[in-house]
Amino acid sequence: MPLTPVEFSYFCRTSILSMRPIQMVDTRSQYHRIQSEVDQAVLDVLESSAFIGGKPVQAFSEELAAYLKVAHVIPCANGTDALQIAMMALGLQPGDEVITPSFTYIATTEVIALLRLTPVFVEVDPQTFCIDPASIRAAITPRTKAIVPVHLYGHAAPMEKILQIAREHDLFVIEDNAQAIGCDYQFSDGRVAKTGTMGHIGCTSFYPSKNLGAYGDGGAIFTKDTELAEKLRMIANHGQRKRYYHEIVGCNSRLDSIQAAILRIKLRELDGYNQARQAVADQYDKAFAGHPQLTTPYRASYSKHVFHQYTLKLAAGIDRDGLVKFLSDRGIPSMIYYPVPGHRQPMFASFGSASLNLPVTDALTDSVISLPIHTEMEEEQLHYITESVLAYLK
Ligand SMILES: *Cc1c(COP(=O)(O)O)cnc(C)c1O
Repeated sequence: MPLTPVEFSYFCRTSILSMRPIQMVDTRSQYHRIQSEVDQAVLDVLESSAFIGGKPVQAFSEELAAYLKVAHVIPCANGTDALQIAMMALGLQPGDEVITPSFTYIATTEVIALLRLTPVFVEVDPQTFCIDPASIRAAITPRTKAIVPVHLYGHAAPMEKILQIAREHDLFVIEDNAQAIGCDYQFSDGRVAKTGTMGHIGCTSFYPSKNLGAYGDGGAIFTKDTELAEKLRMIANHGQRKRYYHEIVGCNSRLDSIQAAILRIKLRELDGYNQARQAVADQYDKAFAGHPQLTTPYRASYSKHVFHQYTLKLAAGIDRDGLVKFLSDRGIPSMIYYPVPGHRQPMFASFGSASLNLPVTDALTDSVISLPIHTEMEEEQLHYITESVLAYLK
């Protein structure tokens, strides 16, 4: 039973008084739980003064590789660089077509255009929000060279089907795992793999709000392939293997020692962080279950969900801007990820993508809303958010 307007208004006033302010992500409260360890690790780097390429960078890379069960982890400066370096290492040439969802963060698609490759935007599945295999098949041409699935919001893309298509057409698969680190994918034979480790290359971001977030920028690239790993490493380091001997054109993309030292500590907490997010999602699911105007996030049988975002779909006719304002007036942030899909971004105008017909993507763009989710959510905050959403809809 939703609260009556009088009850709701009283509930809001009393809740706001006792609660910690609600944030989309509460990195400070999370820091406080590991503060002494983090502070010491940062001080150790300061004392060593090996700010670039220090011991924590190598140690973190090895620990992350062990966690992911992948042979090679190449650290870099951010998730966007990771994607760019991945595409450079695969030797893609200008005009080569790269199939990618339109419904994703701009970094995924921007680097394709930056490298003078052609982004080919395809549909996502309306339930999982991830790239739709049928739409991939329909988009393949003789110029297609790669597929970039995105494990959006923390749910795995349907990798088994994607890898099958890639094998049939001899395409590269670059996984954008920026939102799903730690997520398990299960193949139909029962085998389990971490997202980001199934394609030729996986990319991730350690942007502070990500599930494994640094206290600044950071990123990493994963691969099983030793030759490819060496090339990725070279490209991230000015195309050199040996200092001042530059074999190929690269860039400068490094994870610094302070971030690596912090990430080593946070990697040990990652499974716990993801479980905390799942617990928040469970609570939201329970509160919104069966509501005729809300669709809660789908969890496919092949994917765990690490809930980088908790994203609802609103039924047609609900005033989403009104809901955002209603929540904001009550101290509850919410976000639209993403308000404009890739194929409608002016930056891609020269590819003629605005005329594409992507009805699922357009519909999702108009109906999604993401609620606060992080590792430090309190029971009382959750209750306040769910009551507020339900009060608006009734
Ligand atoms: C965050 C993110 C990136 C880029 O990461 P940065 O570290 O901000 O460059 C790429 N793809 C997706 C899906 C992301 O969410």
